Amino acid sequence: MMNVEQIYKDAGALLEGHFILSSGNHSNRYLQSAKVLEDPKRAEMLAAALAKMIKESGITVDTVCAPALGGVLAGYELARQLGVRSIFVERKEGKMELRRGFEVAKGEKILVCEDIITTGGSAMEATAVIEGLGAEVVAFAALANRGFCQREGSDAPAKPECKLPENTPFFALEDFRFEMYSPEECPLCKTGSKAVKPGSRG
Ligand code: ZN
Repeated sequence: MMNVEQIYKDAGALLEGHFILSSGNHSNRYLQSAKVLEDPKRAEMLAAALAKMIKESGITVDTVCAPALGGVLAGYELARQLGVRSIFVERKEGKMELRRGFEVAKGEKILVCEDIITTGGSAMEATAVIEGLGAEVVAFAALANRGFCQREGSDAPAKPECKLPENTPFFALEDFRFEMYSPEECPLCKTGSKAVKPGSRG
């Protein structure tokens, strides 16, 4: 089994220091997910491992749909390896939509793919769009799981923040559960260190 955490570290995608997360909490670790896909060979290797899990589960997928922007590269590479169609939904004036001539058929089996699933909010917005058009979301997938949701094969249970439905499988390569602190209680702040915000999503 590949060491996914080491792959993220080697790619500069798993940062260590003192960070402000998108939730406003502080942490000593931060995932800069896009960095792991910077090397197409690495992206191919990670998506291959994810595709293998999905194939072995016996689930049937017609199409991979990713929420833009974060999920697009992972979704495309996963679709390539599953031998299925790749589409994405994107925000227009804040609302997720299927655009650019992409269509889904009634009953089409869709896997919603992200680079990382945090609480699953974007994945569920994508799901609402897809199911509103009559297709069926049969699974979720992400390269990395921030540990709020329970991935297939993991004993770590979902936290209350997880928005993914319990009865739909969620495939991910690794759990990245970080220690998180409110700014008031952050032990790193207490040492006089200043938290930084590294970029979008973490
Ligand atoms: Zn802090």
